[in-house]
Amino acid sequence: MRLAHRVRLDPTPAQQEYFRRACGVARFAYNWALAEWQRQYAAGAKPSEAALRKQLNALKDTRFPWMREVTKNAPQQAVKNLGRAYANFFEDLAKQRRGELPWKRVRVPTFKKKGRHDSFRADNGPDKHHPDAVRTDGKRARLPIVGWVAMREEVRFAGRILSTTISRAADGWYASFAIEVEYQSDPRSDDTVIGVDLGITALATLSDGSKVVAPKPLRRNLQKLKRLSRSLTRKQRGSRNRAKAKTKLARLHRRIADIRADVLHKLTTSLTRYRTIVIEDLNVAGMLASRTLARAIAAVGFFEFRRQLQYKAAMASSTVVVAGRWFPSSKLCSTCCVKNEFLTLSERTWTCVSCGTSHDRDVNAACNLARYAESSPASACGAEGAGREENFAVKPAA
Ligand SMILES: [Zn+2]
Repeated sequence: MRLAHRVRLDPTPAQQEYFRRACGVARFAYNWALAEWQRQYAAGAKPSEAALRKQLNALKDTRFPWMREVTKNAPQQAVKNLGRAYANFFEDLAKQRRGELPWKRVRVPTFKKKGRHDSFRADNGPDKHHPDAVRTDGKRARLPIVGWVAMREEVRFAGRILSTTISRAADGWYASFAIEVEYQSDPRSDDTVIGVDLGITALATLSDGSKVVAPKPLRRNLQKLKRLSRSLTRKQRGSRNRAKAKTKLARLHRRIADIRADVLHKLTTSLTRYRTIVIEDLNVAGMLASRTLARAIAAVGFFEFRRQLQYKAAMASSTVVVAGRWFPSSKLCSTCCVKNEFLTLSERTWTCVSCGTSHDRDVNAACNLARYAESSPASACGAEGAGREENFAVKPAA
């Protein structure tokens, strides 16, 4: 299984200078290849990233000799990334034609700007003498040309390092390691099932009645985020105050992302205690298109939640069951299976007219999800009506 770990770096001023230069080379190569792609396409040719890489290599010594100052992988990977961006674009186009992507604006690859998502591939790849693309030793990593770079923490996973990308965020430099992790998971004999209802008021409600709420610093920071983004729009373009506000906002985004990642990791790790974990198939794509900030941020969380849960479950020999999109988890009474057609979104508690049970909306939904996965499909409320169309075990993360 391939996992990634992003580690904050503590580079020396000279190393930072090298990183900046390598980012510049990567950005230049990407933009050069994009312009060339557009030109060739307009001339009726069929461009490919492999051909563009060859073309760039041939030009490097005569026209762009300064590219030699940084690792050759910075420009090479940048052109490969462009190929990937075009492949994604064509895939999205096809999906839209089939009507599978009605909501999304399909975006053609665009030129990169300095200071936005600056990054470059730092390693030369594994070879027969060094199975790891990059050597690490405790809290430091050895990169080609720059040498040992200090890291804030050790690499979390044991395994072969396949590649390393250096990137710049608001507050500094990071290394992302792609690691091939060998794991042995024993088949499990227990039969525990948990249903998980994801929401915005409580991050998650479990079918055992417990709730996971957003931590206070997260809520506080989200309020601050609103204020800061408003203040940024009021600053004059190109002014120094605007630049300052921008850095501040970027730092806050980073901080929120870190807190969220921490909460999600703890939640998904704790869930893999169960043999079977049932979640809803949320329309994340649809939610992302929503205009409200809270929704959009929450939607990113759901996507990440599902991704983490699936790879961790695979490592723990648990199974993730995704209830079909049309499974009415909120509206069914988990006691008597009668559907409450009149339940509105704002009703947090309700009483079943058929059996008189009073329900907490989220706990009831989580219970229905847990029953969805129980051994005999007929025992789950709404199983016949809803169909178990999307009940699948997970594949290990690509
Ligand atoms: Zn009932």
